[in-house]
Amino acid sequence: MEENRNEYVMKDIFACMEEGGHEQVTFFRHEKSGLRAIVAIHDSTLGPALGGCRMIPYASTQEALDDVLQLSQGMTHKCAIADVDFGGGKMVILPDSSSTEKSPELFRAVGRFVGSLQGRFFTGTDMGTSPEDFIHAAKESKYIVGLPEYYGGSGDTSISTAMGVLQGMRATAQYMYGSESLEGKVVAIQGIGKVGARLAGLLLAEGAELIIADVHLPSCLIIQRMSPESVEITTTHKILETPCDFLVPCARGGIVNTSNIHQFRCKAIIGSANNQLENDQCADLLAEREILYAPDYLVNAGGLIQVAMEILQKTKECAEEKARFIYDMLLQVYKRAEQHQISTCQAANEIVEERLEKIADIRRIYLG
Ligand code: NAD
Repeated sequence: MEENRNEYVMKDIFACMEEGGHEQVTFFRHEKSGLRAIVAIHDSTLGPALGGCRMIPYASTQEALDDVLQLSQGMTHKCAIADVDFGGGKMVILPDSSSTEKSPELFRAVGRFVGSLQGRFFTGTDMGTSPEDFIHAAKESKYIVGLPEYYGGSGDTSISTAMGVLQGMRATAQYMYGSESLEGKVVAIQGIGKVGARLAGLLLAEGAELIIADVHLPSCLIIQRMSPESVEITTTHKILETPCDFLVPCARGGIVNTSNIHQFRCKAIIGSANNQLENDQCADLLAEREILYAPDYLVNAGGLIQVAMEILQKTKECAEEKARFIYDMLLQVYKRAEQHQISTCQAANEIVEERLEKIADIRRIYLG
């Protein structure tokens, strides 16, 4: 019985890998620390895989596997469109049945296993893990990124992610209104966490009017206190239906789906959350409703650019300069979508495929 179940799981994994075009999936387990983890490497055409390590409650191994496969694929897209020479990878930690506690040993074990991939995969913080956790992992592996600045890393990525979203918003304003100014624009932010709060501050400095929502009300109140006349707080339900220039998802993914798409009353969607669209069909439906969609994996690439520059030992200024690229690339995506009458998602995906093909071709050159 047990054997049959294992056989089924193996078949399922290969079918999933084939469907998504994944190169490698590795399972890790360490008894004493309670670590159970999966690393997925989607595509290493551009270089070693790079992607965060997520630790959230998963209902099943299959759910964790689906998540790591989807997220690693997204990282390939993000690296390719952000023009950084890394591949797509991701790691997930699954709580075991007796609820895994975070501990230094757990993250040391993460470090050992990541090290065993011998540079094929770099990782750092993601949902449910912090830069401090990875101080322990870094004792066991040199393939750990995004450590706190006081520990020699490049620090919190949410600042550069927020900066990248701001660049994307300026480009979107330029495309829609002929001016990149955000002054007076009505911006509805869903999720006032690390990225959302920083972005709110940047937008207030630009003169935007904010409507904000978070399940954690005190986070919203902090922003409102910064500029009471320019910040309105609404409910997490109403925020998606709010009439505004830009709807900015900065909480969870999947917020645009076929059943709620008719409720949106924004002119554009542009935010940091990963996998905002439930599926590709949503991109076409948004286009039909003349809602401009800024592909999430491009707009939220600021943090990725920061850690990629950290691995390459470039300065923070270099990372900031490179993040400006989001502005130009997003305009390219919008123009391509308009020219070819395709969704912005398809336009971005085509740019990714073309880049992967071109680089793969160049790397066929024999080096002697
Ligand atoms: P975070 O956990 O700090 O913030 C998320 C916020 O969303 C929290 O304040 C939470 O209370 C709120 N929230 C949760 N459910 C909500 C709901 N239904 N309605 C309204 N608010 C809700 O996370 P973060 O680092 O700010 O990241 C935000 C998003 O951006 C995530 O999807 C993340 O994957 C993505 N992202 C983050 C980075 C980064 O550098 N931090 C980089 C790329 C992408």
